[in-house]
Amino acid sequence: MARVLISGASVAGPVLAYWLRRFGFEPTVVERTPALRHGLGGHAVDLFGSGVEVVRRMGLWEQIHEARTRTTIMTLERRRGRPIDVNVDRLSAGISDEHVEILRGELTKILYDATRADIEYLFGDSIATVHGRRRDVRARGTAPVRPGDRCRRVALDCPPARLRP
Ligand SMILES: Cc1cc2nc3c(=O)[nH]c(=O)nc-3n(C[C@H](O)[C@H](O)[C@H](O)COP(=O)(O)OP(=O)(O)OC[C@H]3O[C@@H](n4cnc5c(N)ncnc54)[C@H](O)[C@@H]3O)c2cc1C
Repeated sequence: MARVLISGASVAGPVLAYWLRRFGFEPTVVERTPALRHGLGGHAVDLFGSGVEVVRRMGLWEQIHEARTRTTIMTLERRRGRPIDVNVDRLSAGISDEHVEILRGELTKILYDATRADIEYLFGDSIATVHGRRRDVRARGTAPVRPGDRCRRVALDCPPARLRP
């Protein structure tokens, strides 16, 4: 089974890992924070159209919808003039038929919980260097990444400046 190393366990990392696993790859997600950044902290993430479709196909739509922020009014503060209240449902309806707003930490937790049984997560670590091109990538990190491990691909959500795969 081809191995893939993914950098970042927030939103994109776990989703990518899920789909790669479904299609026969063996992903490992490396996250630099010592533990999952979950809970009520962090900012909101809006899922529209294709984003909604992706989580629906993962069987997570109900759970994500239940954990939504339930924001109804967004107030735009202006330097001059009175603040303007915007109805969030009407605003998002102009962008997509389907929409959900959820705090990043909540979304991350749902995605992690849905994938942790099948996917290896390494916290408190990051990819230090990447050698090779395309088919045979060798990643070297700190201890848990197992220096010298070979992966088919490295997916970099947030590539450190020194990595140029
Ligand atoms: C202030 C702010 C407000 C926002 N508001 C909205 C909004 O209202 N609606 C919306 O849809 N989107 C919003 N966004 C965008 C939203 O945050 C992103 O769409 C979403 O978080 C992207 O998810 P991601 O997984 O790609 O990256 P991120 O959520 O940034 O996750 C990257 C992960 O990679 C980890 N990481 C980074 N470097 C390394 C490394 N070298 N090694 C290992 N791990 C690493 C990080 O710790 C993190 O866990 C906002 C962003 C910001 C900053």
